[in-house]
Amino acid sequence: MEKVLEVRNLKKRYGRFEALKGIDIDLYKGEIFGFLGPNGAGKTTTVEILEGLRKAGEGEITFFGHKIHGQTPSFVKERIGVVLQETRFLDHLKVKEVIELFASFFKNAKSPEEIIKMVQIEEKAEDFTDNLSGGQRQRLAIATALVNDPDIIFLDEPTVGLDPQSRESVWQLVRDLKKSGKTVFLTTHYMEEAQTLCDRISIIDRGRIVASDTPKNLIRKYGGKSEIDFMCAELPSKSIIEELRSVDVVDDHFRIETDDITTTLEGLVEWSKRNSVKITDISLVEPTLEDVFLTLTGRGLRD
Ligand code: ATP
Repeated sequence: MEKVLEVRNLKKRYGRFEALKGIDIDLYKGEIFGFLGPNGAGKTTTVEILEGLRKAGEGEITFFGHKIHGQTPSFVKERIGVVLQETRFLDHLKVKEVIELFASFFKNAKSPEEIIKMVQIEEKAEDFTDNLSGGQRQRLAIATALVNDPDIIFLDEPTVGLDPQSRESVWQLVRDLKKSGKTVFLTTHYMEEAQTLCDRISIIDRGRIVASDTPKNLIRKYGGKSEIDFMCAELPSKSIIEELRSVDVVDDHFRIETDDITTTLEGLVEWSKRNSVKITDISLVEPTLEDVFLTLTGRGLRD
């Protein structure tokens, strides 16, 4: 896989405070990479250094195979797109005019029509920006980051405050970007967003990367046990219940914690057949990225 960004041992100090304590990041072409961390972990510092908005401290940053010295140079800026957490548009401009304005900043900009089509706001092209919904505004913000046809797009919390439908439309756009071969560097506080969108995730805490992997592997390694909850049509005898290993009985409700949900379920089905126990209301509770987060950082995403 082609590496588009490599960060090695990146450090950053604010006075005596060390906000980044030597972090490594690898970003590959065509992936959606999630960068997660609790408040104050160092996400904004990292991302803004990469975007060229803050000065790096020690460490090495290599974009597209070129080592960067000091501030992110213009040839890199030509190949990246940045969507900040909040974008304010001039409300006396129409959607198409906003895109034309951003396109005018670049030598080789895409045509505004093409960009409008990409982010699917054709029907709003001639509207003023203050008439846009939250989801449409965010799609326009992403559009402004696409005018230079970037290889990497940095998205900072792209769905904050959006209703579920608008959020889904932004997710679809992010998936479309990936499909067209672009790389997305996404910071988010929403675990569900990271879990559904990201190919790989790095979790940063107190200026250090504490884990990097696919969401599935992170959950397997750090998510803890799964739970099987069920009831029985009639309460089995104590000796029958005792055949089940590590079961918790709360009133008429049963709970088994397991590392291997498939084997445990198979065992449960066999047990129910063997003892003619009818199982009802069965549900599976699997660990999520939220559990991974708690294990690794001891904190929720928003403390
Ligand atoms: P959040 O999720 O709250 O936005 P974050 O992970 O983006 O947090 P940063 O904004 O990178 O975290 O901040 C990392 C640490 O560096 C925090 O302790 C913050 O207080 C500190 N910090 C950030 N910017 C500065 C600055 N300009 N001067 C001094 N300290 C700073």
